[in-house]
Amino acid sequence: MNDQTTWVEISRSALQHNLSGLRRLFDSGHPSTLAPVIKANAYGHGLCAIADACIECGCDVLCINEVEEGKILRAHGVTARLYVVGPTFPDEAPAIIAADLEVVVFSEAQVRALAEAAGAAGATVGVHVKIETGTHRQGLPPVQAKALIQCISDTPGVVLAGVTTHLADVEDETEHTFARTQLERFERATADVPAEVWRHCASSAAHILFPSARWDMVRVGIATYGLWPSRETRISADIVHKGALSLAPVLSWRTRLIQLTEVKKGNYVGYGRAHRVSSDRRVGLLPVGYFDGFDRSASGKGQVLVQGHRAPILGRICMNMTMVDVTDIEGAAVGDVVTLIGQDGDEYIGATELAEWSDTINYEIVSRIHARFPRIVLP
Ligand SMILES: *Cc1c(COP(=O)(O)O)cnc(C)c1O
Repeated sequence: MNDQTTWVEISRSALQHNLSGLRRLFDSGHPSTLAPVIKANAYGHGLCAIADACIECGCDVLCINEVEEGKILRAHGVTARLYVVGPTFPDEAPAIIAADLEVVVFSEAQVRALAEAAGAAGATVGVHVKIETGTHRQGLPPVQAKALIQCISDTPGVVLAGVTTHLADVEDETEHTFARTQLERFERATADVPAEVWRHCASSAAHILFPSARWDMVRVGIATYGLWPSRETRISADIVHKGALSLAPVLSWRTRLIQLTEVKKGNYVGYGRAHRVSSDRRVGLLPVGYFDGFDRSASGKGQVLVQGHRAPILGRICMNMTMVDVTDIEGAAVGDVVTLIGQDGDEYIGATELAEWSDTINYEIVSRIHARFPRIVLP
């Protein structure tokens, strides 16, 4: 028991289970480094808590999105290699050097700024060149990438640590011709890069489904947290691995019943009078709304768990509050723990189910759980 109104529980054993299952996939092929992606507050799970747990599980490279996360982790005492997958600006170079981060580069201006900051600090900085192979998000076409790699090798203080790309379409398909084309382009573009430079391109779905995409490092985000990148990936994985890869969700999100109100037949609940009760109902109030990451588009569709039973959301989710129907849950009382994501008795609501009600993906559901709620790490 704790005295919080709303909190997030993190299961260290679930995280460990996922990391070892994901590592076991390497055995059949060539060994590679599993680098968990802990950007976006570790997909809402808590940046420092998850970094600590991953390091305890033997991870020595962690992927983040921005310099600020790197500063927070260094201040927290993390000494593992930190690789920034997101874009950085030339004027962030001194902070990158000070926090000892590795970054993606896509321009000579960036390389020069990094070299200058590294020179001033008497340090070196590892950079990764991102190659455009069909995603058109971040990176350089092969010819320009080659020129940038040359520029890096001519620039003291800057070391080519990796070459990388990002696949556009592994998650949403069970048919992977486009991903194979991207992998071929990547292979061709990196053919004369020295062997000590790490090649990496796989996120969760590619790591799980494509041994040939694993190369020297895999950047595994969503699967670290025990969530599948998509239904399609799960179906394909069950075929490829014959059900041998299981993922255990790491996060539970809980709050409490704050108030109970009897609402007589024919009355309305919430904004826009969006819900009218067709019989006498007992309505419970939760202190969580869309500001907190409880997505408004689950209004009228979603459910929560109270005393191991499903309670439907009534009417519209508000900014900081939500109303649920607890009429059929005998004994529901103010102060009861309410599960928004997680197990309660025999019932379970996963981030993926919540995502379906909100017409989005599990990534968005967990990464938007507000950082203000404490992350409580359980064994
Ligand atoms: C977020 C991200 C990943 C992780 O993707 P998942 O599908 O969560 O495994 C990997 N690589 C890059 C560049 C990313 O931005």
